Amino acid sequence: MGGVSDHQSPQSPDQPATATDHHDDGPSPQVGQVTDDQWRERLTPEEFHVLRQAGTERPYTGEYWDTHTEGVYSCRACGTELFRSQQKFDSHCGWPSFFAPLAEDRVEYIRDMSMGMERIEVRCRSCGSHMGHVFQGEGYDTPTDLRYCINSISLTLQPADPAAGA
Ligand SMILES: [Zn+2]
Repeated sequence: MGGVSDHQSPQSPDQPATATDHHDDGPSPQVGQVTDDQWRERLTPEEFHVLRQAGTERPYTGEYWDTHTEGVYSCRACGTELFRSQQKFDSHCGWPSFFAPLAEDRVEYIRDMSMGMERIEVRCRSCGSHMGHVFQGEGYDTPTDLRYCINSISLTLQPADPAAGA
């Protein structure tokens, strides 16, 4: 490999004109490509910890654990609609709880053997972000006897009636 080209283009002064942050508000179609560094830019440190590092917010501290507003809960990382208020119920556990996802193909389940017990982790299928865990057979009076125990910080509520959001 010793060829020297005589046709090197002159050093063109390409100024990176848009090197500032660029925050997308909407869902990105290429979330599969997002790197950890890019997630860090898009998310707050708290969001990053839960969504991308499978952290857990402290109970009774999240935004939605006691919310009864009608609407759809989307993945806070990528905007995919994951849960609905119709399936939300009062579990009194300190986190938003749902007895079913909006659709089974919106989420994925991963066996989680951390913390010395077997749990089923729930992730957003679109972007792989951590939502929480799903528990079965706890005796709640719901149609499925499942409790999707989801971090508020993993979700964004879109109220059905925006005027009723507050
Ligand atoms: Zn997502």
